[in-house]
Amino acid sequence: MTDIVSTKKDTKNDYDAVVVGAGIAGLYAVYKLREMGLRVRGIEAAPAVGGTWYWNCYPGARVDSQSYIYQYWFSDELIQEWNWAERFPPQAEVERYLNFVADKFELRKDYAFETRVTSADWDDDAQCWRVGNDQGETLNTRYFISCTGMLSEPKAPDFPGKDSFQGIIAHTARYPREGIDLKGKRVGVIGCGATGIQLIQTIASEVEHLTVFQRTASYGVAMRNDQFDDAERDHWRAKAGELQDKVYNSFVGFDYDFEHGSWYDQTPEQRLQVLEEKWQEGSLSMWVGTYPELFTDQAVNDEISDFVRKKIRARIDDPAIADLITPQTHGFGTYRVPLENGYYDVYNRDNVELVDVRSAPIECITATGIKTTEGEYPLDVIIMATGFNAGTGSLARMNIHGREGLSLTEEWNKDIRTTLGLQVHGFPNLFTVAGPLAPSAAFCNMTTCLQQQVDWVTDCIAYLQEQHLKSIEPTLEKQDEWVAHHDEVANSTLLVATQSWYTGANIEGKPSRLISYIGGVNEYHHKCEEVQESGYAGFTKV
Ligand code: NAP
Repeated sequence: MTDIVSTKKDTKNDYDAVVVGAGIAGLYAVYKLREMGLRVRGIEAAPAVGGTWYWNCYPGARVDSQSYIYQYWFSDELIQEWNWAERFPPQAEVERYLNFVADKFELRKDYAFETRVTSADWDDDAQCWRVGNDQGETLNTRYFISCTGMLSEPKAPDFPGKDSFQGIIAHTARYPREGIDLKGKRVGVIGCGATGIQLIQTIASEVEHLTVFQRTASYGVAMRNDQFDDAERDHWRAKAGELQDKVYNSFVGFDYDFEHGSWYDQTPEQRLQVLEEKWQEGSLSMWVGTYPELFTDQAVNDEISDFVRKKIRARIDDPAIADLITPQTHGFGTYRVPLENGYYDVYNRDNVELVDVRSAPIECITATGIKTTEGEYPLDVIIMATGFNAGTGSLARMNIHGREGLSLTEEWNKDIRTTLGLQVHGFPNLFTVAGPLAPSAAFCNMTTCLQQQVDWVTDCIAYLQEQHLKSIEPTLEKQDEWVAHHDEVANSTLLVATQSWYTGANIEGKPSRLISYIGGVNEYHHKCEEVQESGYAGFTKV
């Protein structure tokens, strides 16, 4: 053990760093801290590694980022050894990849699985965290690093009568690992976001009858998913260095960017050509690779939204269903754009029914189905694709208390404030990877942002070690400065007007603020580097 925790050295519960989560960020953080010679303990509630890719094992779960950028960059050996089978890999493939990484770098031995953090209290005298878990242990650690993911605390609406339902109810983010036999069943799905779309398009042909309860329609972009052969894999492997550089320096951490200049510098024909080309690419470049004005200029957003609406309408046979399934309540890209693979075709099937629960909301769940204000729908299985308490949910439930007993949950119940999404004033040595107000799931290819943020955290810890410092936290002024900058950027966009998890609107009573930074991954990266290069100016170091 390195000489950093000042009390009770060499006992089994003393660590330099505790990392919560064994997903993409957690595994990388444990690996890096261990390489730095620190004594690290990973804690994971699941029985295995994977994080998001362990829990979200619903039928059809798939990543919307291309595999060749949805990976770790730290090991060339890993890049050479791993073979991606598809352009957009399914959940099982990403989970296999993370298990491969855990095996290769022997990461499991540093984890306690099936263990949940129940409390974390900063001890100002000892300058360390006391981290309690549901196994009755208290771990002492200098650094407490949450890698709990941005979308990990499921939101399951508490519909009256839920407990009386005689069939099976599941949430997509806690889908049974053994699956549910849906053959010959009447299945109801609530929710048509990125998750609902993947689920619905996958199970429609398997079930006897599918009832989709839609409150808000999404702008699905048709995915072009290719199978990879060795030549394709070698092509992308050869470009790994270039891709890494590109994703860190692009607006949302992908290998594409706004490369066509301003909307206003082009003729209508040129714009249409760009939109058609992007549509044919079948990726999120349709969202974050067209024109930057999509996010800020209502007239531009209206035109691009219309372009996508026409594509959607063309897929639906029944004009009444087309009316319902074509988004009208928000503009394209002001909320997460899902990729779809046969989703719209599902509504041309005889065994699929679309129920509009915006005009006739769900009243309750009965013993035999779902009752809306307009009718009752008999069901054997109900699957909720109702999303997450994003950004704050998993951190809030860990019961974290900083200096002078300050409660993170209570603070964020009033107002969600962080510094760069990575630290919070009043909570020394707490590092929140993918925390609120960083460019995370909402506007980032997650592997890009997670690796960049873990690198910032581990560099910061290395700095503290070298300088023989015990703790670091942002000053109130530094935090106010970041929040003000975040808000200024957010409020200049159209996104703040759309009701979604992006603004906290999906959780009753949650303070409203754009949960992720939208100034650009590239810009964020520079701002993080500036802090480092200034010797952490604006941070209190003890
Ligand atoms: P979501 O986008 O929050 O969608 C939840 C859906 O449930 C919405 O359609 C919502 O309708 C509906 N809903 C919630 N409460 C309801 C209620 N009481 N009655 C009726 N409908 C209700 O959640 P998600 O689809 O799980 O996606 C969350 C995020 O996960 C995505 O935005 C994405 O970032 C990530 N994700 C990524 C991938 C991928 O990479 N492929 C796949 C899946 C998810 P309202 O909008 O009207 O509230």
